[in-house]
Amino acid sequence: MSVFRNEHPKRRNITKEVSNYRKHRDDLRKDYFDRCGYCNSIDTWRFVWFEIDHFVPQKYLKTIKDTDYFNLVYACRSCNNAKRAKWPSMDEKIHNVNDEGFIDPCDEEYANQFKRTDTGRILPDTRLGEWIYNELKLYKPQHEIIWKMEEMNNLIDEIEQVLDGNPNSGEDLKDKLLECYRAFRKYAQQLSEVGLQ
Ligand SMILES: [Zn+2]
Repeated sequence: MSVFRNEHPKRRNITKEVSNYRKHRDDLRKDYFDRCGYCNSIDTWRFVWFEIDHFVPQKYLKTIKDTDYFNLVYACRSCNNAKRAKWPSMDEKIHNVNDEGFIDPCDEEYANQFKRTDTGRILPDTRLGEWIYNELKLYKPQHEIIWKMEEMNNLIDEIEQVLDGNPNSGEDLKDKLLECYRAFRKYAQQLSEVGLQ
């Protein structure tokens, strides 16, 4: 098993007034390390468009403004579409109750709700995590595929470094190349079967 994510997103204390919450996009992207707050998919390949989610849905905002930075989450379209206005407590101050509801992705506690298999598939690790997992459809194959593609991308970087440093590196390089190409073939095939949404 692997950890759900290696680093936790952290919102800066941005209080400047903006006319539209979308103006926070660049700051959010930076604070979330280019990743969806909910599934941790990186936005590199644009298979899925990235959007801005209101953690407490706009429908339930009372004292929070829809442009308040602290309530915004950089999110992939899959997670944003799945979350929509789901908010079981219907109270902006109560994030979850009786293992139903959400945890702010910037709270380190969010990552404790899940784990990953060695191939990057997300699994719930708590009762609340199970609720979130089902509601956000974190079981969708694309979360595993994008995780694996990121790993392959890093592997290619590693191969390039080896090649640059030692053009005659032999077996070690061969093993890395084969691992990379086999993984690529497997996941490209899987991607063509499931598609992304
Ligand atoms: Zn997502």
